[in-house]
Amino acid sequence: MGSISERLRISKTLDGAGSGCFIKCTGPVINSISPVNGAVIGTTRSAGKKDYEKVTEKAFMAFKAWSLIPAPKRGDIVRQIGDAFRTHKKDLGELISMEVGKIRAEGEGEVQEMIDMADFATGQSRMLYGLSMHSERPDHRMYEQWHPLGPVGVITAFNFPMAVWAWNAMIALIAGNTVIWNPSSKAPLSAIAATKIAWDVLKRNDVPEGVLNLVIGSRKDIGENLLRDRRVPLISATGSVEMGRHIAKTVAERLGRSILELGGNNAVIVTPKADLETALRAILFGAVGTAGQRCTTTRRLIVHKDIAKKLTDALVKAYRKIRIGNPLDEHVLMGPLIDREAVNAMQKALKKIKEHKGRILYGGKVLSGGIYNTGTYVTPCICEVKHDTPVVMEETFAPLLYIIRYSTIEEAVKYHNAVPQGLSSGIFTNDLKEAEFFLSNRGSDCGIANVNIGTSGAEIGGAFGGEKDTGGGREAGSDAWKAYMRRQTCTVNWSGKLPLSQGITFGMD
Ligand code: NAD
Repeated sequence: MGSISERLRISKTLDGAGSGCFIKCTGPVINSISPVNGAVIGTTRSAGKKDYEKVTEKAFMAFKAWSLIPAPKRGDIVRQIGDAFRTHKKDLGELISMEVGKIRAEGEGEVQEMIDMADFATGQSRMLYGLSMHSERPDHRMYEQWHPLGPVGVITAFNFPMAVWAWNAMIALIAGNTVIWNPSSKAPLSAIAATKIAWDVLKRNDVPEGVLNLVIGSRKDIGENLLRDRRVPLISATGSVEMGRHIAKTVAERLGRSILELGGNNAVIVTPKADLETALRAILFGAVGTAGQRCTTTRRLIVHKDIAKKLTDALVKAYRKIRIGNPLDEHVLMGPLIDREAVNAMQKALKKIKEHKGRILYGGKVLSGGIYNTGTYVTPCICEVKHDTPVVMEETFAPLLYIIRYSTIEEAVKYHNAVPQGLSSGIFTNDLKEAEFFLSNRGSDCGIANVNIGTSGAEIGGAFGGEKDTGGGREAGSDAWKAYMRRQTCTVNWSGKLPLSQGITFGMD
């Protein structure tokens, strides 16, 4: 760790809040224990209520200046932030691996996502387009325009400790907003390192402090204040469904806006017309990648009964070969879970599966000995269950893949849509009718629907998010930027008269 922290200029003891430089924090200390080897890799003094107040006031004041900078100029600064991430890609990726246990390729992939977001946002900064409409009144011009909104609160989950912030922050910045980031207390170091790099760029551009703000701290001292703060018109929150329900209610109470990116329970349907080799590779990455701790992880495999045995046998064979261990070792494909609590949750789910007569086909063991003594390493698990087993309806944030057999494509889609969540989905088939049925409005009910691609690994160019219990929010590409701006409909009357809309006459003569 020594060398990465030196290169990223993060010391062993850090303060967890600031607006351009760190302030002396007054909250409790968080020890970052790496799930990889159990070592304390950093210590962060978290922010207390007063620190929150200081930071948020700065964000509120800085909004006034930042929102006056022309959007393409803001875009150019975001471009420079992306370049700074490029320079530090390897180190940031390694830090992610050490802090949350992702393999090196996925840690670096996460940093690449931040770079991609910065590039995307740079282009978008010149395309904050509004529509123009034909007015029903003569000599009137009608159009809409988009204004900056204000400070945006960004609450992030542990499993993408940098990228989720970037999805939000890069877009919020070009939109003219300032950002207050409240990251997961399970990954404070990643948040500090990414923020510091971005601060350096803002400083070089003589931007006032308060444009990008960080507040690491407890739900009670920070989270709840942020949710209730009327200075913050938008809260973008990523995390569990339970957290989302609380945030939706609390922010709505003050009529604030929220973007919710919550849990998934994603399935892949494999039909007899599929290329099984492609399906196998996608399922493997989707179910085992990030040790099953992605919101888009493949949790259910809905497979036609005639090919179920063949595909399941092939999967079990592939699972046996997966190297589990230090995520920085290039041969390792699966690192640890985030902590022992996550391991216990997986064990509880396995117990429920057995109680409901599910069959464990492979894995589900907690590993021990050597590096495994942290109690955070498990073998990924495949089990066969009925589609409506209660535990199948929940998101267990672990590498747990449920095999569900089907007979007709209609039945497959019915099983697919039977869970409360609706994030990502995929079908493997070379049959046009099956693929189009899955994409039709009678098909997948998810925010993301893929053909011959698994559920995991979305590109940033599309709008990312899901339906039902996943919360309905959209982030990243397409027109997701609109949620970060204030829409204004404008009508200009240059007729010299006052015709009213809907033909109303309101005579004064
Ligand atoms: P979590 O819900 O425990 O915490 C997420 C964040 O919310 C943390 O920063 C936490 O401190 C904060 N938080 C929790 N309760 C809060 C409250 N009452 N008020 C204010 N803040 C609160 O989730 P986690 O374990 O960190 O992450 C895993 C979950 O996140 C999974 O359900 C996963 O599917 C989901 N996730 C969703 C997406 C998506 O884009 N849909 C992306 C990544 C992760």
